[in-house]
Amino acid sequence: MNSIEKITVSESSREVPVVAESDVVVVGGGPAGLSAAVSAARNGCSVTLVERYHHLGGMASGGMVLVLDDMINEGNEIVTTGIVSELVDRMAAQDGAVFPPHEDCIASWEMWKKWSRWGCIDFHKSQMPQPIVHAVSFDPDAFKRVSLDLVRESGVNLRLHSWFSEAIVEDGRVAGVVCQTKLGKQAIKGKMIIDASGDLDVATSAGSSFLTGQFIVTTVFRLCDIDTDKAEAFEYSHPEEFKALDRQIRRVLGGAWGMWWLKTPLPGIVWCNCPHMPGYDGMSPEHMVAAEIEGRDRMMKLLKFVRENLPGFENAKMLGAAEQMGVRQTRLLQGEYVVTKDDVMSRRHFADTVCRGRDYYTPYRALLPKGLDNLIVAGRHYSAESSAQKLSREIPPCMVQGEAAGVAVSVALEGNTALRDADVSKIQQRLRAQGADPGDIPSFNALVE
Ligand SMILES: Cc1cc2nc3c(=O)[nH]c(=O)nc-3n(C[C@H](O)[C@H](O)[C@H](O)COP(=O)(O)OP(=O)(O)OC[C@H]3O[C@@H](n4cnc5c(N)ncnc54)[C@H](O)[C@@H]3O)c2cc1C
Repeated sequence: MNSIEKITVSESSREVPVVAESDVVVVGGGPAGLSAAVSAARNGCSVTLVERYHHLGGMASGGMVLVLDDMINEGNEIVTTGIVSELVDRMAAQDGAVFPPHEDCIASWEMWKKWSRWGCIDFHKSQMPQPIVHAVSFDPDAFKRVSLDLVRESGVNLRLHSWFSEAIVEDGRVAGVVCQTKLGKQAIKGKMIIDASGDLDVATSAGSSFLTGQFIVTTVFRLCDIDTDKAEAFEYSHPEEFKALDRQIRRVLGGAWGMWWLKTPLPGIVWCNCPHMPGYDGMSPEHMVAAEIEGRDRMMKLLKFVRENLPGFENAKMLGAAEQMGVRQTRLLQGEYVVTKDDVMSRRHFADTVCRGRDYYTPYRALLPKGLDNLIVAGRHYSAESSAQKLSREIPPCMVQGEAAGVAVSVALEGNTALRDADVSKIQQRLRAQGADPGDIPSFNALVE
């Protein structure tokens, strides 16, 4: 803490107008929150969805994270279904999503050359060619449009431009939330609250236990005017030259995953999920300013280098960085159960599993804070060790988590119970009935104890 942060001012408490009241209040309109809101509304609840920005989708759209993955198990079955499948189908119908047909999902050089630059490879496997898997490359604006349609059609009361600031806690329950808006503070009351802020804002404000995690941050960006056919032809016809150049590019960038550029549904526009920037706190304004500056400097260095050196990128131009800094991990709930790295790696199955991704299973208890009856979390801040979350935080599993949370609040409201006493088998059955896979039936390779 620097010296200025030690100085405090007192905030006068004022009357805050209540602008909405509903069965369920969801905070955060990212992949988890929008799924939670739609799911709760489809199960008969009145729902208010609060989002700080002007759009839905969180990291998937504003953060321009443009490949949905962790969607299949070892047996090549799609295991993240329900609202996420609807979203993919709707984006594809608007030319906003690309994914391999089932017959292309094999390990062969032919398929690798066809699909790897779409990001549809199993990057958990090291053998080459890596198998092609069901993963979805999508357009960020398609994600925003379709999310808005899903939310609107399900009758959710959407309140954008509303920045959650504090939880209203009364007798061990969260009675509602206060948001900061251009019109001043506004309160929204609810019987059940879903925290899908990604940074655990509501649960923390309500006094829940958490740990502060951290991971690399990224100013994701897109380049346009790329001749992707030429770039791929160079990669395959001059493999040694390509490898040497790619190493140099990585040095210029200062950190990137295996493939630093991927195709997108828009021809000539590529997605760059880089650079890797360690050591930043994704919740600190000072850190985020420094990361924004560093990320933009690095992407312009990369642009200059690839224009001069990489076939296919001669005319490349900067289309722009994502609106939101790519923050992967901040606060993590330490709730009724804390998922461990061993749980994820060993594919441990739990009797109260309500959602899954790839071959990991999430118990209902990992969505519940201790000591609060009517608050549930969904998304990347769920109750897990830092190392476990790094392996289990992709967009589709977060969406299924949100869908499960939406069903859970409806079951608890119907049964007039606290969330921790909600009938888990009913939650699982309802999720199946609405097309989601709650992970209650373990795959062949699960560790069932
Ligand atoms: C650079 C990067 C690359 C990634 N790569 C992939 C990938 O290739 N594939 C993949 O599937 N996943 C990937 N991920 C992970 C994935 O994007 C996230 O884990 C996922 O988006 C989490 O969803 P969420 O809804 O939990 O949180 P978020 O997407 O963070 O959404 C949280 C929402 O809450 C809102 N919010 C936050 N605080 C408040 C507040 N106080 N008031 C109101 N609203 C608030 C935010 O604006 C946002 O809309 C990547 C992540 C990053 C950062």
